[in-house]
Amino acid sequence: MLHIVHHSDYVAPRPKNGSFVFDKYQLVMDAIREHAPEHVVHEPGPMPRHWIEAVHDPAYVEQVLTASVPRETERRIGFPVSAEIASRVQYTSGGTWLAAKLALDHGYAANSAGGSHHALADTGAGYCVFNDLAITANRLLAEGDARKILIVDLDVHQGDGTAVLLAGRTDVFTLSIHSERNFPTRKACSSRDIALPDAVEDDHYLAILDRALTESLADFQPDMLLYQAGVDPHVDDRLGRLALSDAGLERRERMVIRRARDRFIPVASALGGGYGHDHHAVALRHARSMIAMADEAACQRS
Ligand SMILES: [Zn+2]
Repeated sequence: MLHIVHHSDYVAPRPKNGSFVFDKYQLVMDAIREHAPEHVVHEPGPMPRHWIEAVHDPAYVEQVLTASVPRETERRIGFPVSAEIASRVQYTSGGTWLAAKLALDHGYAANSAGGSHHALADTGAGYCVFNDLAITANRLLAEGDARKILIVDLDVHQGDGTAVLLAGRTDVFTLSIHSERNFPTRKACSSRDIALPDAVEDDHYLAILDRALTESLADFQPDMLLYQAGVDPHVDDRLGRLALSDAGLERRERMVIRRARDRFIPVASALGGGYGHDHHAVALRHARSMIAMADEAACQRS
């Protein structure tokens, strides 16, 4: 059973400029309906403003919520922040938090958006407005839902915003495995970074992941795992530089779930990156990722 979080506001109208594809989020849900035999859709509320401000600069939050973000910040984000986008990012942040709460009950749950790992305290960047992962981790810890959180970021781009926003905390460990030559040019310091050369394939990638995951779980002893499950390490991705196959991505998702479940740690995933001219193919990649994780979580429980 796949517990998936979705809200109609995730699908914002396409902005007049910028190349980000917002209808991906509708296509992902279409692919889930077609390919996931059993799934339950959960609707999130908006992330309350004070939880966003616990991580982001209140002046920046005000700019976003009133759709008055300066042009240079919008350029850094990659699209204009309209009223629809302002609403959307409150729901996508609420969605990652809801997925985490559902994971506490069900072992695994997915947000069908989010993973906005480039957003920093006072600015968005790289298609990210609010950092749903950092906001969610901070709130879960503050409300006592978790004691120590491991954030695993396997998007092909480094989770630089998450690393910066949560730097110095002893209750969060950030692990990022990414392409060395990809965006962002200037990398931040996660708790652990693994930068890969171009064109790494399945077996090499999975061996590196297995070791990093096993060590991070053993050393840090988290009781919750937040997973940025970007599918842009895929060989056909337009922005990735790695060479994972469909089968490799599925093995990756099953490995993350299996290593966590071996230690009875709930996993919540956020969608992350995935880019290509064939939007249906990208949406299917995301859907398959979540279906594989739900299937693996079910195997572990039975
Ligand atoms: Zn990415």
